[in-house]
Amino acid sequence: SWTSSDSVISTDSAGDAADPGSPYRVVLLGASGVGKTAFASIFAGAADSMDSDDCELCGDEVCEKEIEVDGEPATLTVLDTWDAETDNEWAQERYMQTGDAYLLLYSVTDRSSFVRASELRITLRRFRPAQHTPIILVGNKCDLVRRREVSVSEGRACAAVFDCKFIETSAAMQHNVWEAFHGIVRQLRLRRDSKEA
Ligand code: GDP
Repeated sequence: SWTSSDSVISTDSAGDAADPGSPYRVVLLGASGVGKTAFASIFAGAADSMDSDDCELCGDEVCEKEIEVDGEPATLTVLDTWDAETDNEWAQERYMQTGDAYLLLYSVTDRSSFVRASELRITLRRFRPAQHTPIILVGNKCDLVRRREVSVSEGRACAAVFDCKFIETSAAMQHNVWEAFHGIVRQLRLRRDSKEA
């Protein structure tokens, strides 16, 4: 079995997401208007500076970038191509299968987006039956205190039922957004390490 200093043995399993050198595909899912684009642009670095040049392969909807989590580099490809409006089920199902990990967003100001997140979680379970596909349920827009329709405890309870992690964020305030991406990386590493153990 591999030791924790596995980075030296990582070169020959191209395409395997468990390889720390290859990018992890992180898919943003959620109803329209919940903040997926805002998340993607924070990840891309566009939100706090005019230049997003530190993001390789940066398009509107796909951004690949190396970040450091717990002192160790990780490359993430963040996909924000989910079309919440489409009724092309085939495209949606394919999209559901493209991720190594998922950020499942809703807006705390929009109960219907919370319901939608549950539906998406159920669909994900169908397409990603693997036990350890990292999923974080993300309650975004927690800055909009007076417009809140979904409480923290409801969000947490929902995540517990669906066996995923939970975090509340505000893309507008840049609160906890990186925490969500880092959480995904930590879960991917746990999965990798348990595979290798
Ligand atoms: P998407 O359809 O999921 O990609 O949602 P967007 O990222 O386009 O966000 C929809 C709207 O909500 C935009 O006007 C954003 O500026 C706004 N928005 C996104 N995140 C937040 C947040 O955390 N707080 C507030 N107040 N507004 C947000």
